Amino acid sequence: MLLDTYGRRAVDLRVSLTDRCNLRCTYCMPEEGLSWLGKPDLLTDEEIVRLVALAVGSLGVREVRFTGGEPLLRPGLVPIVAACAALEPRPDLSLTTNGIGLARVAGALRDAGIDRVNVSLDTLDPGTFARLTRRRRHQDVLDGLAAAEAAGLRPVKLNTVLMRGVNDHEAADLLAWAVEHGYQLRFIEQMPLDAQHGWDRTRMVTAEEILDLLRARFALTPEPAARGAAPAERWLVDGGPATVGVIASVTRPFCRACDRTRLTADGQVRNCLFATGETDLRGAMRDGADDAELAELWRAAMWGKKAGAGIDQPEFHQPERPMSAIGG
Ligand code: SAM
Ligand code: SF4
Repeated sequence: MLLDTYGRRAVDLRVSLTDRCNLRCTYCMPEEGLSWLGKPDLLTDEEIVRLVALAVGSLGVREVRFTGGEPLLRPGLVPIVAACAALEPRPDLSLTTNGIGLARVAGALRDAGIDRVNVSLDTLDPGTFARLTRRRRHQDVLDGLAAAEAAGLRPVKLNTVLMRGVNDHEAADLLAWAVEHGYQLRFIEQMPLDAQHGWDRTRMVTAEEILDLLRARFALTPEPAARGAAPAERWLVDGGPATVGVIASVTRPFCRACDRTRLTADGQVRNCLFATGETDLRGAMRDGADDAELAELWRAAMWGKKAGAGIDQPEFHQPERPMSAIGG
């Protein structure tokens, strides 16, 4: 098992398949992109499957989410998913994507074994989308969402980051649209994980503000189901059954219930999004470590997990790696 000194157990593995992306969301990366990892640095498809098999077979991981960068840019995505779906016990498999290209592969992903997708969509307006992501691909995302729904990858979840003066006026419209389409919307507070270190706490749209924006149009009541380790606090919209979630990573962190462990595209284990240290499984694996040795390294990496990320504390330091290179 992957335990830490605070008694938490990691059962949810985030696997980053690439640090590259075809969008340039302003809260994530600079316009010119980043210096991407070279091919020799990336885990191969076989190395990824070996580490996922170890996590599932020996370390108690039950859920695996593929992310990035943009995971749909990974050529081996479908075979990687298929190999992970064949593991015993079979993990729950999901994908976080910007949705570009999803229309083409949604069916293949479902057939390979993906259970659910989270698609990031911050606006209903193509112009705002172009401003926010620096690419004119809004319709591709909408097509991807529709394809995921048609392929039966339900419930399709939407992730939205609100930026003050850019898309915060759309909060209620986004929720109305999501409810109408049967998508489950979750707002995520903007975190200090952008490559350009431009995050500004005073400009961040807080969970409380998001809820106020939504309450102006909808009646929100706390969802009775226990939250467990889920990062989103959820509300019934106008009595339900539709719900909306808010992930208040900054103002109401959920670190005490965190059940995550992370693997970067270059094979580093991180015990937290905000960790400042990493454990190199790729190097150990390429030096010939056997599964027992890799499992021991992974356990030790998680044992050292801090109590909390402390974003709202004065002594907080943003990690070196940006979100896109960690795997959000
Ligand atoms: N490219 C895929 C996507 O956009 O869904 C997967 C990777 S992306 C890093 C994962 C999620 O992180 C997205 O929902 C994105 O909106 C969110 N994200 C990126 N930068 C963020 C930030 N600084 N604060 C909060 N969420 C962020
Ligand atoms: Fe790409 Fe996702 Fe970052 Fe946007 S949030 S730039 S889609 S990795």
